Amino acid sequence: NAQTEQLEFQAETRQLLELMIHSVYSNKDIFLRELVSNASDALDKLRLAAFQDKDLDADTSDLHIDIDVDKVARTLTVRDNGIGMSRDEVVDLIGTLAKSGTAEVRRTLAQAKDAAAPEELIGQFGIGFYSTFMVADRVTLITRKAGENAGTRWESSGESTYTIETVEGSDTEKAPQGTSITLHLKPADTEDHLYDYTAEHKIREIIKRYSDFIAFPIRMEIERSKTVTNDDGEQTQEISVETETLNSQKALWARSKDEVDEEEYKEFYRHIAHAWDDPLEIIPMKAEGTFEYQALLFLPSHAPFDLFAREHKRGVQLYVKRVFIMDNCEELMPEYLRFVKGVVDAQDLSLNVSREILQQDRQLARIQRRLVKKVLATVKDMRADELEKYQGFWREFGRVIKEGLLSDLDNRETILEISSFVSTQTAEGDEAGLTTLREYVERMKDGQDKIFYMTGESRQQIESSPHMEAFRAKGFEVLLLTDPVDEMWVGSVPEFDGTPLVSIAKGDVDLDTEDERKEHEAEREQQDKDFADLLTWLKSALDSDVRDVRLSSRLTTSPACLVGEAFDMSPMLEKMYRASGQ
Ligand code: ADP
Ligand code: MG
Repeated sequence: NAQTEQLEFQAETRQLLELMIHSVYSNKDIFLRELVSNASDALDKLRLAAFQDKDLDADTSDLHIDIDVDKVARTLTVRDNGIGMSRDEVVDLIGTLAKSGTAEVRRTLAQAKDAAAPEELIGQFGIGFYSTFMVADRVTLITRKAGENAGTRWESSGESTYTIETVEGSDTEKAPQGTSITLHLKPADTEDHLYDYTAEHKIREIIKRYSDFIAFPIRMEIERSKTVTNDDGEQTQEISVETETLNSQKALWARSKDEVDEEEYKEFYRHIAHAWDDPLEIIPMKAEGTFEYQALLFLPSHAPFDLFAREHKRGVQLYVKRVFIMDNCEELMPEYLRFVKGVVDAQDLSLNVSREILQQDRQLARIQRRLVKKVLATVKDMRADELEKYQGFWREFGRVIKEGLLSDLDNRETILEISSFVSTQTAEGDEAGLTTLREYVERMKDGQDKIFYMTGESRQQIESSPHMEAFRAKGFEVLLLTDPVDEMWVGSVPEFDGTPLVSIAKGDVDLDTEDERKEHEAEREQQDKDFADLLTWLKSALDSDVRDVRLSSRLTTSPACLVGEAFDMSPMLEKMYRASGQ
């Protein structure tokens, strides 16, 4: 029995559909790229599932994507024989937005309203399927998951509801394994020949532009009329239909750099990263010899909204000899480079690798080391050659990269080299005025042999701290570290290129030069005597709260300040530990 249910879209989904339907976005063509991209993912998934489960009842001998047009009914259908979706998956994946991002989506939508370009919003949340509503006033999806008997039919006109029904048993002919998506095209688009998505040349052009590298054949039936002359010399028109493959299927990462043009790389990036914008850097790599692999990595231009969410996935795909193995291969990229997107195709791994095997694979660990070095070197070069680009990159990803100072000891020096910081020399709000540690060292005053820093919640909080007084008075530059991650790494990074990093809020920081020190010594001894009674009294009065009470030379206007021991936790770190219950 095929009971049809009518369900409501989630509120955020409705808002997005609204954006889509009324989109004035001029490049509507990309809906087809999104459908093809989803179909390609589904084929990858099926090939892998069949590999891992020999009993899976699915035919993988001719994985492909079909495009069908019906000029009379004005429909366009994209069909794949990939993994398909169960009924629950259709509701979850198509009717709902990714759960992890829902709150974020809501906030962004509320802020954006009509301000942000819809395509940016759409790209950010990876909801490409909905782009079909830019060109269709009704979308029908029929799908059957590999190994299941019943299929599912979903339909919506993109307003507040959709219908869903199960296509049972004997009807599976109606729902072949895989997914077909039929767009009932809006009249406006077919009348204008520029947007006639039933026209062969239009489809050809879009596939060539956006989806040429897709690894599976994208096929379409092409009608050809031929003039035939019979024996009597009469000429008649004969129509033949031929199936043609529209894409070249060439793996981009396997081609040499100068064979690929920039636009192809960018399209590929948009496909694998589910992005709508251009990548910031394109990094093709190749290694031959004992462990052979090809890689194509991308640094994105913008950080995703869930960069700091626990579920955020690392974006490097693993292929083995051109066969897709998995998304987000954690063994290929360390966590602090989780924003890097791309593909690694390893030649000598077994197609049958499991997560467990991957974790111990020495070859993969070596590939990871090479990729990390290359990514860091790319950032370093960017800083040297294209400062502004680097500054944009650092604004988006700096907070994540600094996590590597704790976790990646091998590359610590390089990460320190490419990191930028706000310091007391940075004008308020001047991002371009960030300093590297090397620049700091070059500016150090005569006799200064340490890099001074202070951590805190904000620049203002640090600058109004009594610890700053003496440094300000003497004109020493201080790094102002306000990212939460700064608290984590500064304690375990003792020096930069031989110069110690020292917190101005800890221990006894001596700012005097040798001469000044001698001069002050006598003075201080006298003061110690003069104030001995006061110090003894303060010590006993504050006995349970502080370890020691000292006269200070570091204050200029404040009467007193609290100082941590050299090896104490900073107050903010202490607060973080307390908050996490430790
Ligand atoms: P994204 O591709 O970024 O995840 P989409 O809106 O394009 O977002 O697709 C949402 C989800 O719907 C996909 O992640 C996938 O799980 C599912 N899906 C879409 N199209 C297909 C398809 N042709 N076959 C199987 N699953 C699909
Ligand atoms: Mg998609």
